[in-house]
Amino acid sequence: MVVSTGVGGGIVLNGRLLDGASGNAGHIGHVIVEPSGRRCVCGARGCLEAETSGPAIEAITGRPPTQPTYEIIQRTGRLVGRGIASVCNLLDLPLAVVGGSVALGFGAPFFQAAQNSLDELCRLEFSSGARIVPARLGDDGSLIGAAAFALRGMNRMARI
Ligand SMILES: [Zn+2]
Repeated sequence: MVVSTGVGGGIVLNGRLLDGASGNAGHIGHVIVEPSGRRCVCGARGCLEAETSGPAIEAITGRPPTQPTYEIIQRTGRLVGRGIASVCNLLDLPLAVVGGSVALGFGAPFFQAAQNSLDELCRLEFSSGARIVPARLGDDGSLIGAAAFALRGMNRMARI
């Protein structure tokens, strides 16, 4: 998952990347985390992207995400944890890897707030203990992911 200019992600379930009907499975940016929250580009209200992306943070707080206050970091982490909790409860996922300039820029306090939210909301036997960790690939993560996605597509074509 990335929390950056936008919020998005992918889901690896049972070792396989989920596609969905149109290839958009895992688009966590449009999970609703604030039912009466800000209007999102998708038309709904309170989507994770509308509440926690860099542009959303700036619109809500008047501060660029590179200069967050403690409260901004806590709120963003809490909402990201809320969105992830829904996915963990829905899909029996034990781990969320989060990157992106907002998440990684906010650092440890963000991840702690997100984990606290996850701990509070994942209470089923299978979902309690789910973890949120920072992506370790830094700025290379999206490039490596894109290359892996392309290789996956080439492997599929080779089988046809
Ligand atoms: Zn949306």
